Amino acid sequence: MDNITTIFREKKLKLTPQRIAVYKYLKSTTEHPSAEIIYKALQDEYPTMSLATVYKALKTLVEVGLVQEINVGEGNFRYDGNCSPHPHIQCVNCSKVNDLHTLDLSNLNQDAEKHCDYKILSNKVYFYGICKDCQ
Ligand SMILES: [Zn+2]
Ligand SMILES: [Zn+2]
Repeated sequence: MDNITTIFREKKLKLTPQRIAVYKYLKSTTEHPSAEIIYKALQDEYPTMSLATVYKALKTLVEVGLVQEINVGEGNFRYDGNCSPHPHIQCVNCSKVNDLHTLDLSNLNQDAEKHCDYKILSNKVYFYGICKDCQ
């Protein structure tokens, strides 16, 4: 919580209860929920919060670097409260997204630089497969 308070104060952004709720929810899960799932999950506690508000809160949280937006394709955005770079894997059957924390891709940027004349700044790695439940 300290993190979000400090960052919002630095950026002179209003720390609304809705923004805190969205952030807290993302910090509490590793499920990489979509905006719709976050909206539904928070409806009991915040019955007046609209889906548009959730989208706006997510946009702000992504902009200030507290939340990571994951585009797993098909125009389907998922959100991750873990902002450190890590590869993701999505099940092509049930669409769930998992982290691949133990796969070390720390040399990927350097390796890729050997194949082009860019100075590479970042990468996003997604794997696709069939999860254990769907196999
Ligand atoms: Zn699955
Ligand atoms: Zn993740």
